[in-house]
Amino acid sequence: MIGDTIDAQKAAEAKKLMQDAQHVVIFTHMGPDGDAMGSSLAIWHFLKANGEGEKDVTVIVPNAFPSFLAWLPGADQVLVFEQQPDVCAARIAEADLCICLDFNDPKRIAQASDHLVQNPCPKILIDHHLDPTDFATVTISHPEASSTCELVYKVLSAFSIQPSGASEHSEIGLQIATCIYTGLMTDTGNFSYNSNNPELYEIIAALMRAGIQKDQIYDRVFNQSTEDRVRLTGYSLYRKMRLYSEHHLALITLSIDELKQFNYKQGDTEGIVNMPLQMEDIFYSVFMREQEPKPGTTKNVVKISFRSQGDRPVNIMAGDVFRGGGHMNAAGGEYYGSIQAAAGLFLREYPKYLKKE
Ligand code: 5GP
Ligand code: MN
Repeated sequence: MIGDTIDAQKAAEAKKLMQDAQHVVIFTHMGPDGDAMGSSLAIWHFLKANGEGEKDVTVIVPNAFPSFLAWLPGADQVLVFEQQPDVCAARIAEADLCICLDFNDPKRIAQASDHLVQNPCPKILIDHHLDPTDFATVTISHPEASSTCELVYKVLSAFSIQPSGASEHSEIGLQIATCIYTGLMTDTGNFSYNSNNPELYEIIAALMRAGIQKDQIYDRVFNQSTEDRVRLTGYSLYRKMRLYSEHHLALITLSIDELKQFNYKQGDTEGIVNMPLQMEDIFYSVFMREQEPKPGTTKNVVKISFRSQGDRPVNIMAGDVFRGGGHMNAAGGEYYGSIQAAAGLFLREYPKYLKKE
Protein backbone atom coordinates (compact mmCIF):
# COMPACT_ATOMS: atom_id res chain seq x y z
CA MET A 1 0.00 0.00 0.00
CA ILE A 2 1.25 3.42 -0.95
CA GLY A 3 0.64 4.99 2.48
CA ASP A 4 2.68 2.24 4.21
CA THR A 5 5.97 4.15 4.21
CA ILE A 6 4.41 6.59 6.68
CA ASP A 7 4.60 5.55 10.34
CA ALA A 8 1.00 4.54 11.17
CA GLN A 9 1.09 6.05 14.65
CA LYS A 10 2.36 9.40 13.38
CA ALA A 11 -0.28 9.41 10.65
CA ALA A 12 -2.97 8.71 13.26
CA GLU A 13 -1.69 11.53 15.49
CA ALA A 14 -1.56 13.94 12.56
CA LYS A 15 -5.08 12.96 11.50
CA LYS A 16 -6.44 13.52 15.03
CA LEU A 17 -4.76 16.93 15.26
CA MET A 18 -6.22 17.91 11.89
CA GLN A 19 -9.69 16.71 12.90
CA ASP A 20 -9.66 18.56 16.22
CA ALA A 21 -8.32 21.90 14.98
CA GLN A 22 -10.55 24.83 14.05
CA HIS A 23 -8.01 27.49 13.06
CA VAL A 24 -5.22 26.05 10.97
CA VAL A 25 -2.24 27.87 9.47
CA ILE A 26 -0.15 26.11 6.83
CA PHE A 27 3.43 27.35 6.33
CA THR A 28 5.96 26.73 3.63
CA HIS A 29 9.47 27.97 2.91
CA MET A 30 10.91 31.26 1.66
CA GLY A 31 11.08 31.46 -2.13
CA PRO A 32 8.15 29.07 -2.50
CA ASP A 33 8.60 26.56 -5.33
CA GLY A 34 6.20 24.10 -6.94
CA ASP A 35 6.60 21.55 -4.17
CA ALA A 36 6.12 24.14 -1.43
CA MET A 37 3.01 25.63 -3.02
CA GLY A 38 1.65 22.29 -4.22
CA SER A 39 1.95 20.56 -0.84
CA SER A 40 0.52 23.56 1.04
CA LEU A 41 -2.47 23.97 -1.26
CA ALA A 42 -3.13 20.20 -1.33
CA ILE A 43 -3.42 20.17 2.47
CA TRP A 44 -5.45 23.42 2.35
CA HIS A 45 -8.01 21.87 -0.04
CA PHE A 46 -8.05 18.68 1.99
CA LEU A 47 -8.76 20.46 5.30
CA LYS A 48 -11.39 22.73 3.82
CA ALA A 49 -13.19 19.73 2.32
CA ASN A 50 -12.86 17.40 5.29
CA GLY A 51 -13.52 19.74 8.21
CA GLU A 52 -16.25 18.67 10.59
CA GLY A 53 -17.95 22.03 10.45
CA GLU A 54 -16.18 24.82 8.66
CA LYS A 55 -12.51 25.05 9.51
CA ASP A 56 -10.71 28.29 9.01
CA VAL A 57 -7.55 27.38 7.09
CA THR A 58 -4.87 29.77 5.82
CA VAL A 59 -1.72 29.21 3.80
CA ILE A 60 1.04 31.70 4.68
CA VAL A 61 4.18 32.02 2.57
CA PRO A 62 7.11 34.20 3.76
CA ASN A 63 7.53 36.03 0.43
CA ALA A 64 5.86 36.15 -2.97
CA PHE A 65 5.57 33.03 -5.09
CA PRO A 66 6.41 33.05 -8.81
CA SER A 67 3.68 33.89 -11.33
CA PHE A 68 4.05 30.46 -12.99
CA LEU A 69 2.43 29.00 -9.85
CA ALA A 70 -0.38 31.55 -9.61
CA TRP A 71 -2.78 29.31 -11.56
CA LEU A 72 -2.68 26.61 -8.84
CA PRO A 73 -6.17 26.13 -7.43
CA GLY A 74 -6.38 28.18 -4.23
CA ALA A 75 -3.20 30.24 -4.88
CA ASP A 76 -5.31 33.42 -4.89
CA GLN A 77 -6.17 32.77 -1.22
CA VAL A 78 -2.54 32.49 -0.05
CA LEU A 79 -1.26 35.24 2.27
CA VAL A 80 2.26 36.61 1.82
CA PHE A 81 3.86 37.48 5.19
CA GLU A 82 6.15 40.16 3.74
CA GLN A 83 3.15 41.94 2.18
CA GLN A 84 0.72 41.67 5.12
CA PRO A 85 2.76 41.08 8.27
CA ASP A 86 0.05 42.19 10.70
CA VAL A 87 -2.75 40.16 9.13
CA CYS A 88 -0.48 37.10 9.02
CA ALA A 89 0.74 37.57 12.61
CA ALA A 90 -2.89 37.74 13.81
CA ARG A 91 -3.82 34.54 11.94
CA ILE A 92 -0.80 32.74 13.39
CA ALA A 93 -1.58 33.93 16.92
CA GLU A 94 -5.11 32.50 16.78
CA ALA A 95 -4.11 29.18 15.16
CA ASP A 96 -4.79 26.01 17.16
CA LEU A 97 -2.76 23.93 14.69
CA CYS A 98 0.24 24.85 12.51
CA ILE A 99 1.21 22.61 9.61
CA CYS A 100 4.73 23.07 8.25
CA LEU A 101 5.49 21.76 4.79
CA ASP A 102 8.70 21.37 2.79
CA PHE A 103 11.17 22.90 5.28
CA ASN A 104 13.18 21.48 8.14
CA ASP A 105 13.80 24.47 10.38
CA PRO A 106 11.64 27.47 11.37
CA LYS A 107 14.46 29.72 10.11
CA ARG A 108 13.34 28.83 6.57
CA ILE A 109 10.13 30.85 6.98
CA ALA A 110 12.04 34.05 7.81
CA GLN A 111 10.02 36.72 9.69
CA ALA A 112 7.10 34.33 10.19
CA SER A 113 9.32 32.03 12.23
CA ASP A 114 9.10 33.89 15.59
CA HIS A 115 5.30 33.93 15.33
CA LEU A 116 5.20 30.20 14.63
CA VAL A 117 7.53 29.32 17.48
CA GLN A 118 5.74 31.60 19.97
CA ASN A 119 2.37 29.93 19.41
CA PRO A 120 2.29 26.94 21.80
CA CYS A 121 -0.32 25.06 19.70
CA PRO A 122 0.46 21.61 18.24
CA LYS A 123 2.52 21.56 15.06
CA ILE A 124 2.80 19.00 12.27
CA LEU A 125 5.88 18.88 10.03
CA ILE A 126 5.85 16.99 6.73
CA ASP A 127 9.16 17.33 4.90
CA HIS A 128 11.90 15.70 2.83
CA HIS A 129 14.96 17.72 3.89
CA LEU A 130 17.72 16.17 6.01
CA ASP A 131 17.86 16.54 9.79
CA PRO A 132 14.74 18.47 10.75
CA THR A 133 15.05 20.45 13.97
CA ASP A 134 12.82 19.20 16.76
CA PHE A 135 10.11 21.88 16.81
CA ALA A 136 6.97 19.97 15.79
CA THR A 137 4.58 17.79 17.79
CA VAL A 138 4.45 15.27 14.95
CA THR A 139 7.40 15.10 12.54
CA ILE A 140 6.98 13.13 9.33
CA SER A 141 10.40 13.43 7.73
CA HIS A 142 11.55 11.33 4.76
CA PRO A 143 14.69 12.69 3.09
CA GLU A 144 14.55 9.82 0.58
CA ALA A 145 11.24 11.11 -0.81
CA SER A 146 11.23 12.92 -4.15
CA SER A 147 9.16 15.77 -2.77
CA THR A 148 6.94 16.90 0.06
CA CYS A 149 4.02 16.41 -2.32
CA GLU A 150 4.86 12.69 -2.50
CA LEU A 151 4.69 12.58 1.32
CA VAL A 152 1.43 14.53 1.39
CA TYR A 153 -0.06 11.97 -1.01
CA LYS A 154 1.15 9.15 1.23
CA VAL A 155 -0.05 10.81 4.43
CA LEU A 156 -3.53 11.34 2.96
CA SER A 157 -3.49 7.70 1.80
CA ALA A 158 -2.47 6.60 5.30
CA PHE A 159 -5.50 8.52 6.60
CA SER A 160 -7.46 6.03 4.44
CA ILE A 161 -8.66 8.96 2.42
CA GLN A 162 -7.82 8.39 -1.20
CA PRO A 163 -6.48 11.73 -2.41
CA SER A 164 -7.51 10.51 -5.81
CA GLY A 165 -9.29 7.11 -5.84
CA ALA A 166 -12.40 7.59 -3.68
CA SER A 167 -12.80 11.20 -4.64
CA GLU A 168 -12.20 10.24 -8.27
CA HIS A 169 -15.02 12.28 -9.66
CA SER A 170 -14.98 15.14 -7.22
CA GLU A 171 -13.71 18.60 -8.00
CA ILE A 172 -11.86 18.74 -4.70
CA GLY A 173 -10.09 15.43 -5.40
CA LEU A 174 -8.97 16.85 -8.72
CA GLN A 175 -7.70 20.06 -7.11
CA ILE A 176 -5.70 18.13 -4.52
CA ALA A 177 -4.33 15.83 -7.24
CA THR A 178 -3.32 18.81 -9.41
CA CYS A 179 -1.46 20.46 -6.53
CA ILE A 180 0.32 17.20 -5.65
CA TYR A 181 1.36 16.50 -9.25
CA THR A 182 2.83 20.00 -9.55
CA GLY A 183 5.21 19.34 -6.65
CA LEU A 184 6.20 15.90 -7.92
CA MET A 185 6.97 17.38 -11.32
CA THR A 186 8.89 20.47 -10.20
CA ASP A 187 10.99 18.84 -7.44
CA THR A 188 12.20 16.12 -9.83
CA GLY A 189 12.90 18.41 -12.82
CA ASN A 190 9.98 16.83 -14.67
CA PHE A 191 11.08 13.36 -13.49
CA SER A 192 14.74 13.66 -14.45
CA TYR A 193 16.30 13.38 -10.94
CA ASN A 194 15.25 11.92 -7.55
CA SER A 195 12.71 10.02 -9.58
CA ASN A 196 13.85 6.41 -9.67
CA ASN A 197 11.30 5.02 -7.24
CA PRO A 198 8.61 3.02 -9.10
CA GLU A 199 6.08 4.05 -6.44
CA LEU A 200 6.26 7.58 -7.79
CA TYR A 201 4.70 6.41 -11.04
CA GLU A 202 1.99 4.50 -9.19
CA ILE A 203 1.10 7.77 -7.50
CA ILE A 204 1.10 9.58 -10.85
CA ALA A 205 -1.19 6.91 -12.32
CA ALA A 206 -3.62 7.44 -9.43
CA LEU A 207 -3.47 11.23 -9.90
CA MET A 208 -4.20 10.78 -13.59
CA ARG A 209 -7.20 8.61 -12.76
CA ALA A 210 -8.39 11.48 -10.55
CA GLY A 211 -8.42 13.57 -13.71
CA ILE A 212 -5.24 15.66 -13.69
CA GLN A 213 -4.16 17.06 -17.04
CA LYS A 214 -0.44 16.42 -16.70
CA ASP A 215 0.61 17.96 -20.02
CA GLN A 216 -1.39 21.08 -19.21
CA ILE A 217 0.28 21.33 -15.79
CA TYR A 218 3.71 21.13 -17.48
CA ASP A 219 2.70 23.83 -19.93
CA ARG A 220 1.42 26.16 -17.20
CA VAL A 221 4.57 25.81 -15.11
CA PHE A 222 7.28 25.72 -17.77
CA ASN A 223 5.94 27.33 -20.95
CA GLN A 224 4.46 30.63 -19.76
CA SER A 225 7.63 32.73 -19.44
CA THR A 226 7.91 36.38 -20.42
CA GLU A 227 10.32 37.43 -23.16
CA ASP A 228 12.43 39.17 -20.49
CA ARG A 229 12.77 35.92 -18.58
CA VAL A 230 13.91 33.91 -21.60
CA ARG A 231 16.39 36.64 -22.58
CA LEU A 232 17.72 36.80 -18.99
CA THR A 233 18.37 33.05 -19.21
CA GLY A 234 20.24 33.56 -22.47
CA TYR A 235 22.27 36.43 -21.00
CA SER A 236 23.17 34.36 -17.94
CA LEU A 237 24.51 31.50 -20.03
CA TYR A 238 26.16 33.52 -22.80
CA ARG A 239 27.67 36.41 -20.85
CA LYS A 240 27.81 35.40 -17.21
CA MET A 241 28.74 31.73 -16.96
CA ARG A 242 32.30 31.07 -15.89
CA LEU A 243 33.77 27.56 -15.98
CA TYR A 244 36.38 26.12 -13.62
CA SER A 245 37.23 22.98 -15.52
CA GLU A 246 39.52 21.29 -13.00
CA HIS A 247 36.57 21.02 -10.67
CA HIS A 248 33.97 20.55 -13.43
CA LEU A 249 32.27 23.62 -12.07
CA ALA A 250 30.15 26.41 -13.56
CA LEU A 251 29.39 29.69 -11.75
CA ILE A 252 26.79 32.26 -12.81
CA THR A 253 26.30 35.55 -10.94
CA LEU A 254 23.63 38.21 -11.50
CA SER A 255 23.76 41.64 -9.86
CA ILE A 256 20.77 43.80 -8.94
CA ASP A 257 21.51 46.06 -11.93
CA GLU A 258 21.61 43.17 -14.37
CA LEU A 259 18.33 41.80 -13.02
CA LYS A 260 16.72 45.24 -13.40
CA GLN A 261 17.71 45.35 -17.08
CA PHE A 262 15.48 42.31 -17.59
CA ASN A 263 12.62 43.54 -15.33
CA TYR A 264 13.30 40.69 -12.91
CA LYS A 265 10.26 39.18 -11.16
CA GLN A 266 10.28 36.56 -8.41
CA GLY A 267 10.89 33.16 -10.00
CA ASP A 268 12.46 34.46 -13.24
CA THR A 269 15.81 32.82 -12.52
CA GLU A 270 14.28 29.52 -11.41
CA GLY A 271 15.92 26.67 -13.33
CA ILE A 272 18.98 28.60 -14.63
CA VAL A 273 21.21 26.82 -12.10
CA ASN A 274 20.42 23.44 -13.66
CA MET A 275 21.41 24.42 -17.19
CA PRO A 276 25.22 24.26 -16.96
CA LEU A 277 24.82 20.59 -15.94
CA GLN A 278 23.67 19.95 -19.51
CA MET A 279 27.36 20.15 -20.48
CA GLU A 280 29.03 16.74 -20.60
CA ASP A 281 31.93 17.62 -18.30
CA ILE A 282 30.19 19.90 -15.79
CA PHE A 283 29.13 18.20 -12.57
CA TYR A 284 28.74 21.20 -10.25
CA SER A 285 26.74 24.36 -10.90
CA VAL A 286 26.43 27.42 -8.68
CA PHE A 287 24.13 30.38 -9.26
CA MET A 288 24.16 33.66 -7.32
CA ARG A 289 21.51 36.37 -7.39
CA GLU A 290 21.89 39.72 -5.63
CA GLN A 291 18.92 41.29 -3.86
CA GLU A 292 18.25 44.61 -2.12
CA PRO A 293 18.86 44.63 1.65
CA LYS A 294 16.13 43.15 3.85
CA PRO A 295 13.95 45.75 5.65
CA GLY A 296 15.86 47.38 8.50
CA THR A 297 19.28 46.25 7.22
CA THR A 298 21.88 47.82 4.96
CA LYS A 299 23.72 44.95 3.29
CA ASN A 300 22.61 43.40 0.04
CA VAL A 301 21.56 39.77 0.22
CA VAL A 302 22.96 37.24 -2.23
CA LYS A 303 20.89 34.12 -2.69
CA ILE A 304 23.02 31.15 -3.69
CA SER A 305 21.88 27.92 -5.35
CA PHE A 306 24.05 24.83 -5.66
CA ARG A 307 23.45 21.82 -7.90
CA SER A 308 25.57 18.73 -8.56
CA GLN A 309 25.36 15.31 -10.12
CA GLY A 310 26.12 11.93 -8.55
CA ASP A 311 28.11 11.45 -5.39
CA ARG A 312 29.23 15.09 -5.08
CA PRO A 313 27.63 16.74 -2.07
CA VAL A 314 27.02 20.48 -2.23
CA ASN A 315 24.98 20.86 0.95
CA ILE A 316 28.11 20.81 3.16
CA MET A 317 29.57 23.89 1.49
CA ALA A 318 26.14 25.59 1.45
CA GLY A 319 25.94 25.02 5.21
CA ASP A 320 29.54 25.86 6.18
CA VAL A 321 30.11 28.88 3.97
CA PHE A 322 26.66 30.29 3.23
CA ARG A 323 24.57 29.49 6.37
CA GLY A 324 22.27 27.27 4.35
CA GLY A 325 21.86 23.60 3.62
CA GLY A 326 19.71 21.27 1.59
CA HIS A 327 20.07 17.98 -0.22
CA MET A 328 23.26 16.32 -1.50
CA ASN A 329 22.66 17.46 -5.10
CA ALA A 330 20.55 20.59 -4.54
CA ALA A 331 21.32 23.07 -1.82
CA GLY A 332 21.27 26.77 -1.13
CA GLY A 333 22.31 29.53 1.19
CA GLU A 334 22.69 33.27 1.62
CA TYR A 335 25.44 35.85 1.84
CA TYR A 336 25.11 39.36 3.26
CA GLY A 337 27.14 41.76 1.13
CA SER A 338 27.76 42.47 -2.53
CA ILE A 339 27.59 39.89 -5.31
CA GLN A 340 31.32 40.46 -5.94
CA ALA A 341 32.13 39.62 -2.32
CA ALA A 342 29.89 36.54 -2.40
CA ALA A 343 31.57 35.29 -5.57
CA GLY A 344 35.01 36.04 -4.07
CA LEU A 345 34.22 34.02 -0.97
CA PHE A 346 32.92 31.15 -3.07
CA LEU A 347 36.01 31.14 -5.31
CA ARG A 348 38.31 31.06 -2.27
CA GLU A 349 36.43 28.27 -0.55
CA TYR A 350 35.23 25.86 -3.25
CA PRO A 351 38.50 23.93 -3.64
CA LYS A 352 38.06 22.72 -0.03
CA TYR A 353 34.58 21.35 -0.71
CA LEU A 354 34.24 20.33 -4.35
CA LYS A 355 36.03 17.36 -5.90
CA LYS A 356 38.84 17.79 -8.38
CA GLU A 357 38.57 14.88 -10.80
P1 5GP B 1 17.07 26.45 -4.50
O1 5GP B 1 18.44 26.47 -5.07
O2 5GP B 1 16.09 25.84 -5.45
O3 5GP B 1 16.65 27.76 -3.91
O4 5GP B 1 17.13 25.47 -3.26
C1 5GP B 1 17.49 24.12 -3.41
C2 5GP B 1 17.41 23.45 -2.07
O5 5GP B 1 18.41 24.01 -1.22
C3 5GP B 1 16.10 23.68 -1.34
O6 5GP B 1 15.21 22.62 -1.60
C4 5GP B 1 16.51 23.69 0.11
O7 5GP B 1 16.64 22.36 0.54
C5 5GP B 1 17.92 24.21 0.09
N1 5GP B 1 18.06 25.62 0.42
C6 5GP B 1 17.99 26.68 -0.43
N2 5GP B 1 18.23 27.84 0.20
C7 5GP B 1 18.47 27.51 1.49
C8 5GP B 1 18.79 28.29 2.67
O8 5GP B 1 18.92 29.50 2.64
N3 5GP B 1 18.94 27.59 3.83
C9 5GP B 1 18.82 26.22 3.87
N4 5GP B 1 18.97 25.61 5.04
N5 5GP B 1 18.54 25.49 2.79
C10 5GP B 1 18.36 26.11 1.62
MN1 MN C 1 10.60 20.09 -1.82
